[in-house]
Amino acid sequence: MIAEIIVNSSATELDRVFDYEVPKELEIGEDIKIGYRVLVSFARRKQLEIGYVIGFKEKSQYKCKEISRVLDQAFDENKMKLAKWMAERYFCTLSDVLRLFVIPGTSQKYDKVKIKTERWVKLTEKGNADIETIQNEIKTDKQRKIYEFLKDNTEIPASILIDATGTSTSILKTLENKGIVESFQVEVLRNPFLTKRISKSIPLELTEEQARVKSQVKIGEYGEYLLHGVTGSGKTELYLQWIEEVLKSGKTAIVLVPEISLTPQITDRFLARFGRVIAILHSKLSLGERYDEWRRIQNGDAKIVIGARSALFAPIKNVGIIIIDEEHDASYKSETTPKYEAKEVARQMAKMSNATLILGSATPDIKTYYNAKNNKLKLLELKNRISQNGLPTIEIVDLREELASGNKTVFSRLLYQEIKKNLAQKEQTILFLNRRGYSTFVMCRDCGYVVKCEKCDVSMTYHITKNKLLCHYCGAEKQNVLICPECGSHNIRYFGTGTQKIEGEIHKYFPEASVIRMDVDTTTTKNAHEKILNRFRNEKIDILLGTQMITKGHDFENVTLVGILAADSSIHMGDYRANEKTYQLLTQVSGRAGRGEKRGRAIIQTYMPDEFSILAAKKQVYEDFYQNEINVREKLNFPPFCDIIVAVIMGTDENSVMQDAKLFYQIIKEKFETYSPVPAPISKINENYRWRILSKAKVEENEIQMLQKCLCDFEMKKTKDTKLNFDINPNSMM
Ligand code: ADP
Ligand code: ZN
Ligand code: ZN
Repeated sequence: MIAEIIVNSSATELDRVFDYEVPKELEIGEDIKIGYRVLVSFARRKQLEIGYVIGFKEKSQYKCKEISRVLDQAFDENKMKLAKWMAERYFCTLSDVLRLFVIPGTSQKYDKVKIKTERWVKLTEKGNADIETIQNEIKTDKQRKIYEFLKDNTEIPASILIDATGTSTSILKTLENKGIVESFQVEVLRNPFLTKRISKSIPLELTEEQARVKSQVKIGEYGEYLLHGVTGSGKTELYLQWIEEVLKSGKTAIVLVPEISLTPQITDRFLARFGRVIAILHSKLSLGERYDEWRRIQNGDAKIVIGARSALFAPIKNVGIIIIDEEHDASYKSETTPKYEAKEVARQMAKMSNATLILGSATPDIKTYYNAKNNKLKLLELKNRISQNGLPTIEIVDLREELASGNKTVFSRLLYQEIKKNLAQKEQTILFLNRRGYSTFVMCRDCGYVVKCEKCDVSMTYHITKNKLLCHYCGAEKQNVLICPECGSHNIRYFGTGTQKIEGEIHKYFPEASVIRMDVDTTTTKNAHEKILNRFRNEKIDILLGTQMITKGHDFENVTLVGILAADSSIHMGDYRANEKTYQLLTQVSGRAGRGEKRGRAIIQTYMPDEFSILAAKKQVYEDFYQNEINVREKLNFPPFCDIIVAVIMGTDENSVMQDAKLFYQIIKEKFETYSPVPAPISKINENYRWRILSKAKVEENEIQMLQKCLCDFEMKKTKDTKLNFDINPNSMM
């Protein structure tokens, strides 16, 4: 028999399947199955390469080598089906997809991740033998201590033995040399929760509203639901109770949380309820930790996987429920190959394994809500906060008026007063700086010159810690500019106030306040987020100042005031989703206020107080926002009424790029409504010119086939100098 094998090597860019002979002594379906990891000799390479079995057949037209070694099962047949579906749906190769399915760290090089072991000791046969003779060989008290200890404890980690007996490695070594003690290695699983002490929680008695929602979900069969509940309405408690039900039925659960490494509180709640049957997967874990979590899932010790979007592909068996929290979050769409949409993949998985799919949010994705309205998934609603105080009150401050009345500080008069009030009452405040869409660029105030990266067509960003200008695309650095290279003026200004500068302002205007800052600069080390949040909570720090990172999932009882310093920047991001993003952000941030006993209040400072996304955020009625937005989308034919197909042609030769962009345009416009090719908003990255071709179409199975054809056609006719980057509904259209 012949096995069809994908060789997992970065050199095989083409999705080629290779044929290998299955050794005679192996029985297919027993010793080797689809999804097995094998070692094969490949091309002329000395080292054996890892491959994945994706099928079997009787004969091959080639003369084949034999499989060298069978390693283990990497994924099952269901995953194989899913992989095929994904490769087609997201226009990539099967090996691109399979890379997501295998143990982290092992996809490229076999055994790159070392299994972590620990030295254990026990008495040897001799050590266990005749006590008299042994006693003679033991010379010191400390040696005796070790001997006595081991007599009672048979086997123990060496470090613990040394600790418990107050001895040392060298004393232990002496006993080993005498042949009384021997040591051996034991595998230890790295445990990312090792340092945590969390007390157990029990299911809360549900409110009437929660109970009604709970009863509307049928566990144990395929079904899709949107749980739309205002912030603090008890969505998470419902997740916990649904999962409990699923576990009772012997099945397992997957929970996706955006930026899970930033939101330790959520994982803590799951840990408190379920203990160690939880596995956590995210990028901030060390490779070894991720590897161990993966193994705990694979061998069935872990029954709940919590993680970022890629946790969908963990080797968990028998999934009964998939929960996607904050389903509107942009991180559920992958921007690197495979460019998958986690919500779509989750739906496919739920169908395949008869599982329940729950999408939860206070501010659903317009598309999800539209689908729910059109009965593609069932809408569940929680309209009330659990806390008696209800939602926070929200005030809008017009920054233009502030400026007109002579207030040039970053705090409006209202926000200033309210912060003072909070300080006096010993209540905590969160100040939020919206940095999306703009950053600290450097501009000459006389001639308008902006410092740009020479290799990329983007403005460079000032970094106070390095006192340098950085390009966020290619990483290029530049000396800080003090004199304008264009006109010689000294009037250089840094636009886009950074958090550090605001921290300075807080110290100036509220010298009595303690402040803690959370942004990219203060969170580079592992667990830094958690430490900052814990300090804020435990040390009762007056003000937490932060960027996007502080918007999600935090539950601080004593925070009664949220200040949004400038709401506008996401309105200017030049994207059809700008209103939606603004609304979501403002709602999520203000939702951090008043989650405890006391009523919360939020103050939104803006230059555009009449924008409907801002007005809707003040009103806090999602339905109103949705109605307005969906009308706009329909009128302009934007998603959910169509999908946006984005092709970017890149290359170092501007002419070839232009030429291929026109070629692609000619091909695709035959089939879809397409705009003429134009230089992309970021027209150059790292010396590569970029042209963009936008098409609109409702993309279903047929359209996928048509697009596949277009791509094939293009690949055959294009020049060699360019590359095509292709995506549907990407997060960034730059
Ligand atoms: P959401 O996920 O919608 O933001 P949470 O589940 O975090 O809401 O609930 C908000 C707060 O209310 C949490 O502190 C939670 O422990 C509490 N809570 C949730 N459900 C109940 C309940 N049925 N009874 C009492 N407290 C609850
Ligand atoms: Zn100038
Ligand atoms: Zn650059």
